[in-house]
Amino acid sequence: TAPTSTAAFQARFASELPELAVQWQAADTPAPRLVVLNEPLAEDLGLDPEWLRTEEGVGLLTGTRLPEGTIPVAQAYAGHQFGGFARLGDGRALLLGELTDRAGRVRDVHLKGSGRTPFARGGDGLAAIGPMLREYVVSEAMHALGIPTTRSLAVVATGRDVRRETVLPGALLARVASSHLRVGTFQLVQATGDIDLLRRLADHAIERHHPEAASDQHPHLALYRAVISAQAALVARWMLVGFVHGVMNTDNMTISGETIDYGPCAFLEAFDPATVFSSIDYAGRYAYANQPGIAEWNLARFGEALLPLLDEDQEKAVALATETLGSFREEYAEAWSAGMRAKLGLVAVDDAAADELAEKLLELLRESHVDHTSFWRHLSTAARGDAEPARGLFLDLSAIDGWLEGWRALYPDPDAMDRVNPLYIPRNHLVEEALRAATNDDLVPLHALLQAVRQPFDATPGLERYADPAPEDFGRYQTFC
Ligand code: AMP
Ligand code: MG
Ligand code: MG
Repeated sequence: TAPTSTAAFQARFASELPELAVQWQAADTPAPRLVVLNEPLAEDLGLDPEWLRTEEGVGLLTGTRLPEGTIPVAQAYAGHQFGGFARLGDGRALLLGELTDRAGRVRDVHLKGSGRTPFARGGDGLAAIGPMLREYVVSEAMHALGIPTTRSLAVVATGRDVRRETVLPGALLARVASSHLRVGTFQLVQATGDIDLLRRLADHAIERHHPEAASDQHPHLALYRAVISAQAALVARWMLVGFVHGVMNTDNMTISGETIDYGPCAFLEAFDPATVFSSIDYAGRYAYANQPGIAEWNLARFGEALLPLLDEDQEKAVALATETLGSFREEYAEAWSAGMRAKLGLVAVDDAAADELAEKLLELLRESHVDHTSFWRHLSTAARGDAEPARGLFLDLSAIDGWLEGWRALYPDPDAMDRVNPLYIPRNHLVEEALRAATNDDLVPLHALLQAVRQPFDATPGLERYADPAPEDFGRYQTFC
């Protein structure tokens, strides 16, 4: 029998928050071609991968041939972009609706690159294949690293050219998220002054992401607290793995605590807190080391958007929000310290001692421009008795020797270290290589890279070069979004 679809999208967002949803159709795709399909994810969603590969299935993935009853919508939101407030919305994206996955979780299915919407402003509504594949690879890597993230279901080449600096093949990404509610969604509603809508939005967010808040004596304050916790934990994970998001505008910060919007993101190679990859981040606002501070700033904007729900007396509301946001730094510091102890193989060691070691180590890594990812795997080798690979990365040998001596005295556990320190990350030169080849119809490097990053902690024979830093001649890396 022919594979069939069982996809039946719910329209929860569209029906519960119609003020934030504009019904819209995807642009046609002249010559759609499925480039990559995430089969395990499709299965989790109850979608038959074989069916998704058929003409009808690709029609779903491009939004051009949807199951009856589907109500695709462009979502409205606002955002502080590099600090400036703007009314935005999905300019080139559509929410097809929600599916309940095999684990019973509600999941958004969303298309990016599906044509202009009423929110497109000057944009063409399209996406080029390279950036969509970057999101596919990096989000899969993040997921495999255990970091909360939106997922990628498929990339489909549309057959339509996209004009950027050059003419590029167009593509569309099908993305899966626990929702697309953003800090900017709340900002937009607060700006409209519709308190009833703000309350419905907050209640919708509680039900979908932070259901425990519903039974709190002050559910909306509990929502604020829950989002602060989720984001503190998330950004700590980014910092520990060396991830630079690149465009932490408030429209790119989720209420769920998932990483979203893989535009100009990239991973650190040489450890340097000032690292910026994005070609448009001239001032370094979203540099690696600034990320926790920016997260806190964004969460302050979220608190402002919630003020009308926190207390009738706005002065009291401000006091409540301020006090609540005060927990961000502590929660972030705790999440970071716990993660750092795990990276160091010192889970049982006293916090203060481990923190001091960690701070000293980061200083040494910075001074010697040490490759962040390979250092941590060489460090477990040092715990097993061979310190040479780790030492070889440093300029000041006596300083690292002193540090290693103090660390070894605490009996680090190398096997535990290898379970948290990845061998494979989507290194910039490998991502570029894979995207360039895929743009020219060669998918071999893309699949090899996906294989490496999907099992980031286990050495896979044949993938040795995927663990190596970029060659010297790769130069300074810049991303474009
Ligand atoms: P981003 O920087 O990716 O978070 O996008 C910011 C806003 O610009 C969002 O509202 C996007 O939907 C919109 N946008 C980005 N690229 C395009 C495009 N090519 N056409 C239309 N809208 C776009
Ligand atoms: Mg965005
Ligand atoms: Mg983007």
